Amino acid sequence: MKNGFSLGWALAITPGLLLSLYAASDLPINSQACAVQCTLLQYSISDTVWYTGTAPYEESLASYFSSFEAELRPRCIIRPKHTEHVAKVFRTIASISSWTSCQLAIRSGGHTPFAGSANINGGITIDLSLMKETTLSEDHRIAYIQPGAEWVDVYNRLVPEGLAVPGARVAGVGVGGFTTGGGISYFAPRFGFTCDSIINYQVVLANGTIIHANASAHADLWWALRGGSNNFGVVTRIDAQTFDQGEFWGGLLVWEESKIPQLLEAYYDLNSSPNLDPYAQHVLSIGFQGGGVAASNNIHYTKPQRNPPSLRGYTDIQPVLVNTTRIANISSFTTEQDSFSPKGLRQDFFTATVVADLKLYYEIQELWNASLATVVNATGLQYILTLQPLPRVVMQESARRGGNALGLDASKDLTILCLIASWRNANDDKWLLGAQRQLIDKILAAAKRRDRSSRFKYLNYAFAGQDAIAGYGPQSQKRLRAVSSKYDPSGFFQKGVPGGFKL
Ligand SMILES: Cc1cc2nc3c(=O)[nH]c(=O)nc-3n(C[C@H](O)[C@H](O)[C@H](O)COP(=O)(O)OP(=O)(O)OC[C@H]3O[C@@H](n4cnc5c(N)ncnc54)[C@H](O)[C@@H]3O)c2cc1C
Repeated sequence: MKNGFSLGWALAITPGLLLSLYAASDLPINSQACAVQCTLLQYSISDTVWYTGTAPYEESLASYFSSFEAELRPRCIIRPKHTEHVAKVFRTIASISSWTSCQLAIRSGGHTPFAGSANINGGITIDLSLMKETTLSEDHRIAYIQPGAEWVDVYNRLVPEGLAVPGARVAGVGVGGFTTGGGISYFAPRFGFTCDSIINYQVVLANGTIIHANASAHADLWWALRGGSNNFGVVTRIDAQTFDQGEFWGGLLVWEESKIPQLLEAYYDLNSSPNLDPYAQHVLSIGFQGGGVAASNNIHYTKPQRNPPSLRGYTDIQPVLVNTTRIANISSFTTEQDSFSPKGLRQDFFTATVVADLKLYYEIQELWNASLATVVNATGLQYILTLQPLPRVVMQESARRGGNALGLDASKDLTILCLIASWRNANDDKWLLGAQRQLIDKILAAAKRRDRSSRFKYLNYAFAGQDAIAGYGPQSQKRLRAVSSKYDPSGFFQKGVPGGFKL
């Protein structure tokens, strides 16, 4: 019904609801629409709709990773407890289509740093963080994971069973956004991206229908959700293949700045396919904090073997200033990494991907140094360059597991760069974001000059304005758009859900 409420809704209107609707008519059009929708939703799914000033509303905002997201104030926040609640939200909205000028945001773990990805000013945020259960199939080969879980919730359920799934390397990251954006885990060379281990997605479509997307039903949507983010529906359950995994070796190593050239060389050697050990994982970071530059590496070997030969390129570089390596379980490692990533700061991530090349890495480090010199006086600054290996074996594993939407070339070893900054003062926002954007442009230009560029911009590390979907290439983008037209013919998730990366 286009111009008003459906009969079902008219009959459901109570005097209290009418009062709220009339009160809403004083607001600007988008706010009116949102006020009305919040009220209707409150009547259709009570105890899930929260307004400013209530504890569940304020708690939800306070739990975002970055202050950019936490500062946005939705008209109401919906906190569904199960899939049927999510479906009801969309059925309610679909039944009052004349009011759909109210826009929505979808949030799982709330770890995207930039404003508006998983929250919305004045609109409605669907916060899935209460849907966080993990259960196992009878044979323990499949974990059924709700999207609002933090990865540590999943690991805590699986570790006692001697199992794992390839999830985030930081405890508090959410399942929903991570998995629909790709997902790089400690296990990437063994199992590909996290999305490649997802054998089924349960999805609520824009019309409120609940469907399952897997290899035999809605296979096009299954493929699209492996990287296509929030463009098709709300994912309400993720079914991931488990594997046997006990404790393993790993931890943090820190060196002084002078060791960076040696570390880059070790990084390059380890990320080159002939030397690749699929059990070895490493993330090299060069960072400024508290007045100085240092280098660190989160190294892990996913077997219970201390200091394996394949990681000695790093461990032989001495002296090591901090060394937390040990044999432990995945909950312990990811909790340790979480402790280095405090919430509530002004944060950004920017990304670029380059083809593995040692000379290019040296140049990138110089560019980063020059950029740091321009921002070093920002209050509470943390300024980090991370290099994350994406050897071709990861893409080969993706293909073996049904493929994904990321459009990556399996013939080259790649490095994903993630520029991370955090700071305290809002007055520094423009300056710092500008410096990061400039640095990315310079890195991309350097890679191009050396014929080492890649179009890929990893969606989970991209900042607003970096067109992550275009980075999948024209073929993948075209296919994603076709899937969107089929499952979301009104384009609700393109216009009605503006956050994140659109097709
Ligand atoms: C400290 C930290 C550590 C990180 N570590 C890693 C890492 O080890 N490996 C890695 O690959 N990435 C990592 N990331 C990046 C991370 O993968 C992304 O930030 C990811 O989006 C987080 O997922 P989330 O559910 O917390 O995000 P949210 O911010 O809640 O959502 C992100 C996007 O996904 C959409 N979305 C969320 N849930 C759903 C859903 N259920 N259905 C449809 N769309 C949905 C949202 O609308 C939003 O646009 C890290 C980020 C941080 C801040």
